[in-house]
Amino acid sequence: MRLSSFKLTDPAEAQPFVQVPEPEEFNVPLSGHKALVKKGDRVRQGDRLAEHSNAAKGDAHSPVCGLVTAVTATAVSVKKDEAGQDGQSTQAELIALADLKGPELAAALKKLGFDLEDCGLCACGKAADGLHLVINGLNPEPGILWADGLLSGYAQALNAGVDLLRRLLQPSKVSLVLPEGSDRKLDGDLNVIKVKAVYPNSLDDLVIKAATGKERPEGVCAVSLHTLWRCGMAALSGLPSLHTVMTVQDKNYIVPVGVSLRSLLELAGITAQEGDFVILGGQLRGSAVSNPDQPVAARHFGLFHVLQGKFARAKENPCINCGLCVQYCPSHIMVNIISRHAEFQRYDECKGYSALSCMDCGLCGYYCIARRPLLQYMREATRMIKLNDAEITKA
Ligand code: SF4
Ligand code: SF4
Repeated sequence: MRLSSFKLTDPAEAQPFVQVPEPEEFNVPLSGHKALVKKGDRVRQGDRLAEHSNAAKGDAHSPVCGLVTAVTATAVSVKKDEAGQDGQSTQAELIALADLKGPELAAALKKLGFDLEDCGLCACGKAADGLHLVINGLNPEPGILWADGLLSGYAQALNAGVDLLRRLLQPSKVSLVLPEGSDRKLDGDLNVIKVKAVYPNSLDDLVIKAATGKERPEGVCAVSLHTLWRCGMAALSGLPSLHTVMTVQDKNYIVPVGVSLRSLLELAGITAQEGDFVILGGQLRGSAVSNPDQPVAARHFGLFHVLQGKFARAKENPCINCGLCVQYCPSHIMVNIISRHAEFQRYDECKGYSALSCMDCGLCGYYCIARRPLLQYMREATRMIKLNDAEITKA
């Protein structure tokens, strides 16, 4: 398959979104959260179930009114009971975001379940002065199909999201990057840029380059349509982020947080057999899940089923120096050499070969004829380099 065949648009995008029905019981995923409820507690839709100790990471909420049936380190289970109790409201108090801005709005968004880095703030929760906000209006990867459907069917939510991000980030400029041929619009004074709808043009680094003409410039952040939609829905409803948008195989769904991946696959008419792969995320950058009963989180955006044996498994095969990974790498780095250093934990050498320029596109692993897990080597190399750099700064 040639690079030009990695299209980022598809006729299926024109299909309406399917609303996933609510199950009787939800498992709201936790990741580094501290539970605020215990088994037997009654909760309303939107009540906080757990809070994240990191001020930049979103808290977790109940998608429905019901009874807490279990609390573990990885999930809070809630059994639906729409009737409520003793005439109490079935919904948490609404949070009016319209009057909030800057740090006050950031604190409210954290409480509503948003990771602040996704919204364009830096890890410390601050926005750069005079920031240029770039809205990435493309599907993140081949196979993901929701971008055009969001732009055409959820413009009100997206416009509310832009308004919210303007108050949060106070940017000096806002750009919208769309695929060539798209006539979609958002309200306000947006600088619209069109790019060829071919992967890897949808990577944030390349979208920012298209909007600014510069590689990784300071004071510029990219926010996905996925995050923009979630922000807009929170702004319109006053409720936390209780849903996500996902492409499941070849259709788009509005999915409540806390439903199981297995039930989503079943809804799409798929039964995963022993040995098949279930991929969470996109087809090039996603990860195989070990447990299809794991719940959907708000950040999830794609789910795919791959039949056993369709692709040869990646493993630590030796490199045969064919050079394809280097040829297709959009960062033009020596992936073949970096991956060999990463394989033997030689992270200083990885840094010397500019591993931090990796854009995490996954093309190297796709093209490697030796089936080396190149994306995983690159991820481990960049993670360790950043960790080591942080240790040096601290010392
Ligand atoms: S994932 Fe591989 S191909 Fe993509 S930028 Fe990183 S090293 Fe290059
Ligand atoms: S594509 Fe794979 S086999 Fe070819 S040079 Fe890169 S790592 Fe080596």
